[in-house]
Amino acid sequence: MGALLDFFLPSACAGCGIPPEPLCRACQCKPKVVEEELAGSLLRYSLELNEASLAVLSSYKDRGMLALERYLASHLSAVARTYPNADWLAHPPRNPQNFRRRGYDPIERLVRRSGLLVGQRRLRLQATRALSDQRKLSARARRENLSGGLHCQAGTGTVLVLDDVVTTGSTASEMVETLQAAGYEVVGICAIARRLQSEFPPREKKA
Ligand SMILES: [Zn+2]
Repeated sequence: MGALLDFFLPSACAGCGIPPEPLCRACQCKPKVVEEELAGSLLRYSLELNEASLAVLSSYKDRGMLALERYLASHLSAVARTYPNADWLAHPPRNPQNFRRRGYDPIERLVRRSGLLVGQRRLRLQATRALSDQRKLSARARRENLSGGLHCQAGTGTVLVLDDVVTTGSTASEMVETLQAAGYEVVGICAIARRLQSEFPPREKKA
């Protein structure tokens, strides 16, 4: 399905809309590492979400431009490799509704493509109930949507939390809490992009 969409999309750069696809040279950023503390954990990410990087991520996640996968996975792996090798990698569980709509799970694919699973195992987190798409919710609603909504089987070892975009941090924080409660030691949170609220307000607040 994704490959099919890819085929029919016009051959323009996902960042600026001008050829060549999938991403022109000007819109390609070299991976860098920015860090901050998030809910008691060390968050590191590579891109700040602006109009261009948001267009790239949306093209990959919602418009099936799978040709962007290599670029995005390179950012994920560059940031992840700045952490000591963890025993486990964990990412948010699949949202069934989004999966049906897209036909693929972006973060699952990106983790596989990043090469990080060579030497590190994936730790499955499960949703304990139907969760809404976090992107459509306010900061408070995000916390309520996820609170106590994840489960992980008990175990030991170190875990690196991975996600594509960190916005309010509620998904990442809930993952950290769930993993710690299950007995794991979280070494940090690794994201491709960070949405800085003040500089780039969520769309619902603009109206
Ligand atoms: Zn471009």
